[in-house]
Amino acid sequence: MSSTTSLRTSGRRQFLRQLGRGAALAGLMAGTGRLMAAQPQPQPPQPPPSPASDGPLKITNVRAILTAPQGIRLCVVKVETSEPGLYGLGCATFTQRIRLVAAAVDQYLAPFLRGKDPDNIEDLWQAMFQSSYWRNGPVLMNALSGVDMALWDIKGKRANMPLYQLLGGRCRVGVPLYTHVSGSSNEQVEERARAAMEQGFRYIRVQVGTPGNATYGASGGRGAALPGRELLQGHFEGNLFDPVLYRNSVPRLFAHLRSALGADIELLHDVHERLAPIDAIGLCKELEQYRLFFLEDPFAPEDVGFFRLLRQQCATPIAMGELFNNPNEWVELVSGRLIDFIRCHISQIGGISMARKIAAHCGFYGVRTAWHGPGDTSPVGHAAHIHLGLSTWNFGVQEFAPINDAGREVFPGAPQVQRGMLFASDRPGLGVDINETLAARYPIRDDPPFDLGWGRLRGRDGTIMRP
Ligand SMILES: [Mg+2]
Repeated sequence: MSSTTSLRTSGRRQFLRQLGRGAALAGLMAGTGRLMAAQPQPQPPQPPPSPASDGPLKITNVRAILTAPQGIRLCVVKVETSEPGLYGLGCATFTQRIRLVAAAVDQYLAPFLRGKDPDNIEDLWQAMFQSSYWRNGPVLMNALSGVDMALWDIKGKRANMPLYQLLGGRCRVGVPLYTHVSGSSNEQVEERARAAMEQGFRYIRVQVGTPGNATYGASGGRGAALPGRELLQGHFEGNLFDPVLYRNSVPRLFAHLRSALGADIELLHDVHERLAPIDAIGLCKELEQYRLFFLEDPFAPEDVGFFRLLRQQCATPIAMGELFNNPNEWVELVSGRLIDFIRCHISQIGGISMARKIAAHCGFYGVRTAWHGPGDTSPVGHAAHIHLGLSTWNFGVQEFAPINDAGREVFPGAPQVQRGMLFASDRPGLGVDINETLAARYPIRDDPPFDLGWGRLRGRDGTIMRP
């Protein structure tokens, strides 16, 4: 039986069951008409319909698949159903704690979900969310997000439609991307930005390193020696970061790029929460003259109280949210019109279901979407961004990291970039599959330097810094 036929049959059976209950009640009332008319009998309370009994389709298994075809640990959730060959995929990647996410999926959500109807996505979302009693937080939300995406993938396959059609259809032809350009000097950043522009990118995130200083997104200074570094030897290892050198380098970079590239290219920058809040406000004011498309994460999530001060000072557009996992973190920032772009990580905040709600909320306040889409997003997660980007009117821009040949082999149907944009395929659901045999050839590793550099950034006196 095809998935579409199965859906229709399920709906017909449910209708016939309801019809049967109605006919039985009508017969009862006909036989006791006078008594019923004189003295209405209270009806016993009916239990709410069980989601698991609505249709024949059931979730039979849920499991995490760990793989690293690009040297970055990825976690994909596979939800299998009682219909042969019908399954869904979702991205649950939290690369820094990935084995915990796999345990949350395999040991907690799988037994909770087996036997349930995969059609009731919202109901299952709320049930999974409540099932741990303590809610939100990384790990549990990643696991939930992966399942949520997989359920939407199943829904699209059952409807025989690409997912964006179920989300409301197209608002645009393709999904414009921003790409990452970094270098160890302003000239190197300019050269690489020109190469990206020639490939068709209209949005470019620029980061520059300074000698001996590991700035976020720019490897130019990484590993080189800042004066005084030898004093830390024997005490700490890792990279050194000097906020003063970084703070002063950014306006110089933008002055150089606007002079060299002109005003018509959209430029972005990520502070990555590395400055003291008042220094970040000063940087935003100084950058206002260079008309950024957005400046990302000027503050850490712990410092969101500074956004109102920042808003009163300058009109540099602000993007925020990649570290959020709790609705209380973004609702007031959006409704207070304190940010311009929402940057949540879909595989962290609750999957497609929550992303749709956030986007809808943002739409009332002039805030656009710019979902977090770096290399620690699987091609399944990138596909989710396409369907959300196509169907969300208040879309802003989408981050994307290139997928190498191994990644494309493991994930057939992985999105392709053309002239700086992503386009959806007409395959039903998310449109991306996984070859589990090939995925197993790229096992994740736990040893440094396999993406375990987090929590090792220090100031010049050895103080641990934000990543
Ligand atoms: Mg970021």
